[in-house]
Amino acid sequence: MSFQLTILPGDHVVAVSEDQTLLDAAADAGLLLPHSCRDGVCGACKGKILDGTVDYGKHGPQTLTDEEKAAGLALFCCATARSDLTIECRTVSRADDIPVKKLPCRVQEMTLAAPDVMILKVKLPATETFAFRAGQYIDFLLAGGKRRSFSIANAPAGADHLELHIRQVPDGFFTSQVFSTMKVRDILRFEGPLGSFFLREDSDKPIVLLAGGTGFAPIKGIVEHAIASGITRPMTLYWGARDRAGLYLHDMAAAWAQAHAWFKFVPVLSDNIPSEPWTGRRGLVHQAVMDDLPDLAGHQVYACGAPIMIDAARQDFTRHCALPDDAFFADAFTYALESQA
Ligand SMILES: Cc1cc2nc3c(=O)[nH]c(=O)nc-3n(C[C@H](O)[C@H](O)[C@H](O)COP(=O)(O)OP(=O)(O)OC[C@H]3O[C@@H](n4cnc5c(N)ncnc54)[C@H](O)[C@@H]3O)c2cc1C
Repeated sequence: MSFQLTILPGDHVVAVSEDQTLLDAAADAGLLLPHSCRDGVCGACKGKILDGTVDYGKHGPQTLTDEEKAAGLALFCCATARSDLTIECRTVSRADDIPVKKLPCRVQEMTLAAPDVMILKVKLPATETFAFRAGQYIDFLLAGGKRRSFSIANAPAGADHLELHIRQVPDGFFTSQVFSTMKVRDILRFEGPLGSFFLREDSDKPIVLLAGGTGFAPIKGIVEHAIASGITRPMTLYWGARDRAGLYLHDMAAAWAQAHAWFKFVPVLSDNIPSEPWTGRRGLVHQAVMDDLPDLAGHQVYACGAPIMIDAARQDFTRHCALPDDAFFADAFTYALESQA
């Protein structure tokens, strides 16, 4: 059975079948709605049902509460239509023609960048093109239908490989393999590119890049893309980690700041380890942004890292620093819903 789906802003009308998520129906019609995990966990796709009824689908109970459902909210990555619908989300943009593919790849290089961070380079098949936008992510496709998401850390131009920065999760199904049994020349399968976290190039607003831990990965892709494309919009990177080892590519970010007048780098450590020499900033990384830039009205923010950091930044920047809601772009590093049982 098929229904009519009207999407605001813009009054786009598309068809949606009853077993298709609203996000997928929009994508099939060439429309990109804000989203990230596509698993009902991160909340990036949350929007309003203005008219009609939905099945809310499988989602994290904290990500969409009963109160939010009663207030007309739904997660468009897992909600399906049960009638004709009118929905509203923060932004609707035209998806470009970059196809989402399922491809094999071969492990090319593994570098331990910190005790719990592996930089993994995987070689793309020579016979296939794989296009993506800087900042997007892929899902590794694993045994038993499991999927694990990782952001692409390199820029797209001329890429014959993908770089991923993988933090080891204690007892994690996939990341434990990366740190124990995985070796160069292993074959993996992935699906991508995914997500709406990428640089909006139609704006000239100055940018705050906010990274927590391996949230640096997609930010690196975006900065390398800016450098390669001659984009010179002012960008300030605030990169937070617990300790100095967590800033595993500190010198690379510092070198960008040396080489490009439009780029600034502010590293921030949250733990105070007396034995560790550190003359830089301390505290919560999103607080450092607020201390330096109490008025974010004219900025765009691109934030990536732990969900708690993303939530705090979104709330504090929009409430206390006048950042417009539609100028905050984020990928929260949530984990798969099936591993939360
Ligand atoms: C869009 C997106 C992009 C991502 N990009 C990256 C990236 O570039 N680099 C990166 O390191 N991670 C990234 N993540 C997070 C990453 O996908 C998860 O940490 C990963 O799936 C863990 O897989 P696992 O099989 O090892 O752990 P699982 O077996 O899935 O998890 C085992 C248990 O560990 C805990 N856990 C798992 N992951 C996390 C987490 N991230 N934080 C806190 N607790 C956790 C949970 O309690 C879970 O039950 C991203 C997530 C999303 C949604």
